[in-house]
Amino acid sequence: MHLETPLIESLPLSAKAGIQTFLKLEAVQPTGSFKARGVGHACVEYKKRGAKRLISSSGGNAGLAVAFSGRRLGVPVTVVVPKTTTPRAKRLIEMERAEVIVHGDSWHEANAMALTLVDADSAFIHPFDDPLLWAGHATLVDELARQADKPDAIVLSVGGGGLLCGVCEGLTRNGWNDVAVVAAETRGADSYSQALAAGKPVLLPAIESIASSLGARAVCDRSVEFARQLQIESVVVSDAQAVSGCLTLLEEHRLLTEPACGASVAALTEKSSVLSRAKRVVVVVCGGVGVNYQQLLDWDTKFRS
Ligand SMILES: *Cc1c(COP(=O)(O)O)cnc(C)c1O
Repeated sequence: MHLETPLIESLPLSAKAGIQTFLKLEAVQPTGSFKARGVGHACVEYKKRGAKRLISSSGGNAGLAVAFSGRRLGVPVTVVVPKTTTPRAKRLIEMERAEVIVHGDSWHEANAMALTLVDADSAFIHPFDDPLLWAGHATLVDELARQADKPDAIVLSVGGGGLLCGVCEGLTRNGWNDVAVVAAETRGADSYSQALAAGKPVLLPAIESIASSLGARAVCDRSVEFARQLQIESVVVSDAQAVSGCLTLLEEHRLLTEPACGASVAALTEKSSVLSRAKRVVVVVCGGVGVNYQQLLDWDTKFRS
């Protein structure tokens, strides 16, 4: 369901950060993000358990990954999305031959509607809170362990915490428990930073960041528990910094990614006790199909004015 992705050394980012920096290129997955890993694994498992239909409520990269996996597995997919979902996102999901139902003004309402469609013959694929998803995301670290020597730290972005849980599971199952994790978010979508401070998930009143793929109002419980087992440091960046991270990836590595991903690049040059000690780091280039280059340039112009 997913590809083994390249790991490349980035001389431009290494120079900027003053740390030898490698990039794990999840942006080149067929669906444009790491979601293919966990979602693909979950869909395979649910099909084995008898699911005749897969249901998702994500108009973003998770919904696209469910649609892709369903088509590959020959299982019909329904994605319920809110009215705010862009025509482009709907088109990408429909191109994978999934049924798209538009319902409600926000993800919350679309999700409630999606849940009413779930019956004994179908499986609901959660975008971040499912152990099957984490087991699939963990393959990213299995690959790293084959591709390179152990890094001192892994930098990744956190929305609902699915990627974080997967990477932590991967570190644990590869005996890499001493690798630190830097968890990047944008201000206004900093549900993990607040959860670490509170010791439990905190519900944000609203999402106020352009990094829509980081816009889970609360992280999953497991992501907070992992912070008691492994060294996890939260770094919060501005939307402007996240966009500038995207432009760095575009200019230096010819990769178009969402601000959700640019946040991890921006975190590299932020104050961090983990990074101040690290000599080799891996940045998960989580990707995302929710932007085009014009949008990135428009944001950049706006933030600079
Ligand atoms: C889903 C997603 C995230 C956040 O992942 P979580 O598992 O929700 O923490 C970050 N970046 C991109 C591009 C995504 O699609």
